[in-house]
Parts: sequence; structure tokens; C-alpha cells
Amino acid sequence: MSDQGKKTGGCLCGAVRFEVEEPVADFGACHCSMCRKWAGGPLLATHNTPNVKFTGEENLGRYQSSDWAERGFCKVCGSNLFYHLIPDGEYFMMTGAFDDDSGLAMVSQVFIDEKPDGYAFANETQNMTGAEIFAMFAPEGGDDIQS
Ligand SMILES: [Zn+2]
Ligand SMILES: [Zn+2]
Repeated sequence: MSDQGKKTGGCLCGAVRFEVEEPVADFGACHCSMCRKWAGGPLLATHNTPNVKFTGEENLGRYQSSDWAERGFCKVCGSNLFYHLIPDGEYFMMTGAFDDDSGLAMVSQVFIDEKPDGYAFANETQNMTGAEIFAMFAPEGGDDIQS
């Protein structure tokens, strides 16, 4: 077994460390007001399976920001580490938390309709509005999801 495809990361102070096993090649940006409030700017994150291993979990804080998601951070240094979809367990790891985030390509931008006028990424990406996102992920027959 090789380490090929594994990626490690952690918070600024090192109290929380993590490892993702599947290769991660790209990431997306979220411009929604909640992500910008939490991250202090647009959220940049890779999309991972539930299979993320943490060490130093006693220092890992989890803030539930909606019925379906929580956001992880280091209780010691305050670094933002991930967005976690609770129903299916998927983790969106903050790209800046990886030890080596070179070679990652930005491929998508979501909640593009909530992006403030003051900045714009030059990357060519697939862009989606909040309404398009909720339509894509709304449970079948459900039409009452609120942000
Ligand atoms: Zn820390
Ligand atoms: Zn967001």
C-alpha cells in the first residue's frame, strides 16, 4: 500500500490533523453569505467522501450551521477545517488546510448569485446559483428547503 493519493493537512497550530485517502484533484468555491461569514471570504474546499481520519479530535470543534451541515474548526487556533454534510457524511475540506495544496484546480463556483461585487475569480469554472444548487440536492418531492 502506497501513500499515493493520500493527502494530509491540519490547522495552523497543529492540534488537529487529518488525512484523506482518495485522490483529490480539484476544488470548488462557495460564495454564500454563511460561508463568507464563517471563512472570512469565499470558501474554497475539496469534495471528499466520509472517509476522513482525524487526530487530535478533542481539539476539533463542530458547529452545526443548518439542519443538514456542520462546520469544523480547531478549538485552539480557530482554523476553519471543513464543511460536513450530515446526511451522507461527505466532507468538504478547506483547501488551505492541506499541507500541500499545489496541483489542485478550481473547477466550480456555487452560490455565484451571492458573490459580492468586490471580487471575481478569473478561473474558468462551472457556476451555479443557490436556486440551482437547492434544486439539484432537494429531496425528491421536497420543495421547502430553506438556506
Ligand atoms: Zn489549531
Ligand atoms: Zn456556502
